[in-house]
Amino acid sequence: MPRMEIYLDANATTPVLPAARDAALAVMAESYGNPSSIHGAGLRARALLDEARACARRVLQAPSGRLLFNSGATEGIQTAVLSALTALRARREGGEAIPPLLLYGATEHKAVPEALKHWNALLGLGLTMHAIPVGRDGRHDLAWLREHAPQAGLVCTMAANNETGVISDLDGIAAALRGSGALWLVDGVQALGKLALKPIERGIDYAPFSGHKLYAPKGVGMLYVRDGAPFTPLQAGGGQEGGARAGTENMAGIAALGAVLAALESGLGFAQHGQMEVQREQLAAALRDAFPGLVFNAPFAHSLPTTLNFSVAGFSSRLLLDLFDAAGLRVSGGSACSAANAAPSYVLEAMGLPAWAAAAAVRLSFGAADTPEHIAEACTRIRDCAESLRASCQLPGPVADAATRPELLTRFVVDGACCYVLCDPETRQSVVVDPLPELTERLAQWLRCRGCELLAVLDTHSHGDHASSAEALRAAVGLAPAPHDALGWPQGADQLTLGSLRLTRLALPGHTADSQAYLLHDAHGLRLAFVGDTVMPGALGRSDFAQSAPAQFAASLRRLAQTVGLHALLLPAHDYDNRFATSLSVESATQPLLAAALQGGLSDADFARHKTALEQDIAPTAWQTMACGARAGGGDAAALESVELSAPGLQRLGGKPLLVDVREPYEQRLGRLPALGLEAQAAPLSTLLSSLPAWLASGRPLVFVCRSGNRSSQAARALRRLGHARAWSLAGGLALWPAAA
Ligand code: PLP
Repeated sequence: MPRMEIYLDANATTPVLPAARDAALAVMAESYGNPSSIHGAGLRARALLDEARACARRVLQAPSGRLLFNSGATEGIQTAVLSALTALRARREGGEAIPPLLLYGATEHKAVPEALKHWNALLGLGLTMHAIPVGRDGRHDLAWLREHAPQAGLVCTMAANNETGVISDLDGIAAALRGSGALWLVDGVQALGKLALKPIERGIDYAPFSGHKLYAPKGVGMLYVRDGAPFTPLQAGGGQEGGARAGTENMAGIAALGAVLAALESGLGFAQHGQMEVQREQLAAALRDAFPGLVFNAPFAHSLPTTLNFSVAGFSSRLLLDLFDAAGLRVSGGSACSAANAAPSYVLEAMGLPAWAAAAAVRLSFGAADTPEHIAEACTRIRDCAESLRASCQLPGPVADAATRPELLTRFVVDGACCYVLCDPETRQSVVVDPLPELTERLAQWLRCRGCELLAVLDTHSHGDHASSAEALRAAVGLAPAPHDALGWPQGADQLTLGSLRLTRLALPGHTADSQAYLLHDAHGLRLAFVGDTVMPGALGRSDFAQSAPAQFAASLRRLAQTVGLHALLLPAHDYDNRFATSLSVESATQPLLAAALQGGLSDADFARHKTALEQDIAPTAWQTMACGARAGGGDAAALESVELSAPGLQRLGGKPLLVDVREPYEQRLGRLPALGLEAQAAPLSTLLSSLPAWLASGRPLVFVCRSGNRSSQAARALRRLGHARAWSLAGGLALWPAAA
């Protein structure tokens, strides 16, 4: 039976409190009147609305000013910004010189700067937007603010940050703004129910809130507007909310929010601040025990006790999210809004955190209604996660069970760069190809834990974008010094032997003058080749470096084709699009220049000239690193094809499909694949290459499955691109499977 979900993503949204659910249902079932109607049903709805507003005023300590119900904070922000900017425009139209700046905190939720940009343009104001810098502690630079406030028409600062939980110094900001004449918007979303905003005392002009961050449903929120602050309705119509926000009220949502606010007011079911601090300490202790390289990204002293933002050296946030998810722990990477892309968090960047920490951040957030048992179970699962990593050789621990055979090939990827560990499963003799500096410790740990004997650390070429970390890895593993060439090949050796496997090399000058391919042979012949950046999926390695040999590139490609053939599996040093492997025949189909070089239809000089043209303006990669090859234009059919298979589709699929679980071993240990009535195989994405040759040879239908459908679709596309037509990905992954089944 799947384990109960432990939800620790309260800053993204919260579940709906039972009392709020009941209140919403009661409105829909019984008190469904329109509060604008004057009959009994309408009057009952009006009473409910009035009571919810009165309760909100008490909770927010806002007896005066407007308190509007709306759809949520994004709407509240628009209304506030529209109101402030409309007033500024009116002043300008009246002949007054208005302040030229719009200021917003550098770590503000995107809704704020985007709203400023939008209304500034739409109203034709043309004011200058400036981000207020924050310090390493995430708090606004008050000296900067004091200096700039007199030129600001509107200043926007959040009360507490959604990614880090950092609490702004609202008294300090109020003091910095005093006498400036700037209007002040405080985004109260993450503070609601946790901090007293004291809007009247502090002179806050606008404060938006969202119900769904505090146990009410999505689609309901509030906006406080100071008495006397400029106001322009965002929507006009039937005069609801005293004409301040037209449109029939979302009564179910308002009733639910009212029930939450009433519960908050009574204190029942909500933890006090001190208790939440204890819970944060429990979670922090579990995390510190679990991950030795962990750092917290915001100081606890100035943060909401309910938010823990951390990074673990050597572990991407993606890996940690997959791991936590397998343990039934729902957490977020950076902020939920940016979960789809792997870009570093702008919040952590603004705080000046090192790039690795900003890119690897994980956010764990709980709510005041979470019980001590919930937190205790979360701590247990965090420790389970670490156990699983340890058992999979990803964290320091005992040497793995001798019975667990290492895979032939394990691939590690950092920002599209690939590093391979080749290991003979029988003798455990290993070679690392193209080590990456970010991986040194992890690789050393991985090899030690698996009882692997490292024979050599090889580079396929001297790198243009980083110095080789081969020496660091040799030192970390304690490899006995032995003479080798600059790329790590043992001096005088014509081959490297790993049990029954052999590695030979082939010089391929082009990308660099010293580029090599390493060819892997088993008892049956050539199995695959590590080709570095000579040929990559969708690109040929660039040859415009000082250490390149462009005139020899075409001949190297022909030499590769003559030696390995058109169909041998080629493993690249960069794989920007998750294609895993390629072949000369696959690449020739989409890269006309390669096809021409192989067919001999182009002189070597013409080839070099065409290649130079291709490389003129190579854009950086999605990770803003230097691209190691110019992407060849032209369609990659596999990238466009649908590989998704629904649950019913799987049931209809003939030909004895093999279900392949591509989750990593540390995930598989924490949560098994449900029995789906099909033959299943575990083939983690990191070791997918070990299974590729057999799958390609058999042609048996393959259905890949993972947590969310992302990695499984990468695997299916990679297989399709290599000519395996019957490869699919289970749509939505395990997240949707129980529901679909
Ligand atoms: N402001 C902050 C600090 C938030 O955390 C969020 C939501 O994540 C918003 C504004 C936007 O709220 P909503 O999407 O509910 O409108």
